[in-house]
Amino acid sequence: MSFRAIRADKTEAGQNVRLVEMEDCELMEGDVTARVTHSTVNYKDGLALSGKSAIPRRFPMVLGIDLAGIVEASAHPGFRAGDEVFANGYGLGETHFGGYAEKARVKGDWLIKPPPGLTRAEAMAIGTAGYAAALCVLALERQGMKPQMGPVVVTGAAGGVGSVAIALLAKAGWSVVASTGRAEEADYLRELGAAEVIERASLSAPGKPLGKERWAAGLDCVGSHTLANVVAQTRYGGVVAACGLAGGTDLPMSVAPFILRGVSLIGVDSVNCPMPLRLAAWARLARDLDRAALARMTETAPFERTFEIGARILAGRVRGRVVVAIAK
Ligand code: NDP
Repeated sequence: MSFRAIRADKTEAGQNVRLVEMEDCELMEGDVTARVTHSTVNYKDGLALSGKSAIPRRFPMVLGIDLAGIVEASAHPGFRAGDEVFANGYGLGETHFGGYAEKARVKGDWLIKPPPGLTRAEAMAIGTAGYAAALCVLALERQGMKPQMGPVVVTGAAGGVGSVAIALLAKAGWSVVASTGRAEEADYLRELGAAEVIERASLSAPGKPLGKERWAAGLDCVGSHTLANVVAQTRYGGVVAACGLAGGTDLPMSVAPFILRGVSLIGVDSVNCPMPLRLAAWARLARDLDRAALARMTETAPFERTFEIGARILAGRVRGRVVVAIAK
């Protein structure tokens, strides 16, 4: 049987990323085969779709770091034909054929059954971005951070991670300061639960080693000077969770916030995150993420428009999240 897939091939001229027809016999090894019904476009997918990134680490590679679908065949004890499943990361779209395909064969150990009340489309509306946002929130809480300690700042606020993070943090009672480069999205961010919206430029330029103490916690999607300034403006004993690089991978900062204010900077990774923590993040999302808010932050696109969405996300022009409808 043949199926459609977005595949990156290595050529002498560089990567060639296009929609192709593939055969079942080309699928990679795995104990579960699924019909993929939905995927999504995260920032990392945008990079991979551009054909200019190092995201695919072997070729040919079917792109897409998230997938949701219905099991067709399983040799894994946890799944059987007809089960609804989804997966995030684990090398999908990097080292193992990913979600931009009508069919996937993966390790059953990577799969999650949608928590009760969450559809496959909603799981992809959340996707790696939203699940990473939940991991950040859980990481702040594990460090003892509580809403009574003061505000939390979220950078890259109108993006995927940012939008879900605002909704989750507001639901938990935090006063959320949303940092965005898109002033026109201020109402959107307030509707998600932001108490204050600040201009991205106020954090993106080189700043002082220690600034005025503005927030108790931070959740950063941007990196570079933005993360340095977020940490430098964190209150005594505060915690910042770093998960993104939308503004750069560098981190030009001083140790002053660490040694003079006892601020902690913690890293968050979604790709190789252990399953128990993934399940905790998804349980939190299923419990706390308001479905109407999720719908407000989500657009749906047909498979054919994946490339266009990828270009838009790299240009910072996607608001919230995008679901890709793969197969009926
Ligand atoms: P989005 O593109 O949806 O969001 C990123 C947001 O960052 C944009 O919407 C924009 O927000 C802001 N931004 C974009 N470019 C710049 C810039 N040059 N300077 C400052 N701000 C900028 O991406 P995602 O939400 O999918 O991902 C956010 C980041 O988190 C990415 O770097 C991604 O790679 C990373 N990530 C990491 C994960 C992990 O496991 N650690 C998992 C998921 C994502 P606004 O317009 O509001 O300013």
